[in-house]
Amino acid sequence: MDTTRKPAWLRAKLPSGPAYNAVRGLVDGHKLHTVCQSAQCPNLGECWSRGTATVMILGNICTRSCNFCAIQTGKPTELDLGEPARVADAVATMGLRHCVITSVARDELADGGASVWAATIRAIRHRNPSTAIEVLVPDFKGRTEDIDTVLGARPDIFNHNVETVERLQRPVRVQARYDRSRGVLRHARGRGFTVKTGIMLGLGERREEVEQTLRDLAGDGVSILTIGQYLQPTKQHLPVDRWVPPEEFVHWKQFGLSVGFGVVESGAMVRSSYHADEQSLKYTGEEHLNTHNALSGA
Ligand code: SF4
Repeated sequence: MDTTRKPAWLRAKLPSGPAYNAVRGLVDGHKLHTVCQSAQCPNLGECWSRGTATVMILGNICTRSCNFCAIQTGKPTELDLGEPARVADAVATMGLRHCVITSVARDELADGGASVWAATIRAIRHRNPSTAIEVLVPDFKGRTEDIDTVLGARPDIFNHNVETVERLQRPVRVQARYDRSRGVLRHARGRGFTVKTGIMLGLGERREEVEQTLRDLAGDGVSILTIGQYLQPTKQHLPVDRWVPPEEFVHWKQFGLSVGFGVVESGAMVRSSYHADEQSLKYTGEEHLNTHNALSGA
């Protein structure tokens, strides 16, 4: 398969319009990082033109070096304690009913950044009481006390991506592990949260491995699943193994629903945060999730 040229179904929309300009101005003015920019997301034009963006907290230098991800790897220097308030203000200015926050991995911090995560969630909720808050978190090396710190701030959707099938974890996400990520998801589910994860296709996974992964994750109690096409951000990253055709994404959506997921978004351009507001609406059928997560003692 020729993977040097993108197929027609992967052509991204160009950014345009007043909403795009407003998001751009807000991100720059509030000195925020977005995963849309840092991960070179192909949906930036579309999402920002809809007036949405995914803010990335804890800086823009990641302590991990995943071979699929365009975010800069290195030793972070900053811990910006003014960030939670600026994020909360940006969510208010964008008028979001559903916001998605993510972060780099900060393995050098004792709590992996969990306390900043909790402060950010609380700041958003304080400023935007009716906005649903979805968090896309790192694995905190599987430390349940740090996951509980995040859960204690009561996000509406707890998302952690396993990214790929078990066999490909090491080449794709060097410092992560399939079983550890599953443990993170199970822990949040066990505390009563709505849990979400995502995988990429086109990294060399086999059909039966995808089936097993979806069965595993549904069995872990994950409710919302995203499946998208892997894109190689630079020549230094893993090559694309194949372009997954649109009908195969349809197949995986049906398969995912059949093994127990409540919502499966599956398509070449799907990313964790792509139309996340609509995914959560499909799951709950309600606009506000805040009151639905039972949390005992966290
Ligand atoms: S899909 Fe997510 S990361 Fe990509 S542009 Fe949209 S909001 Fe940003």
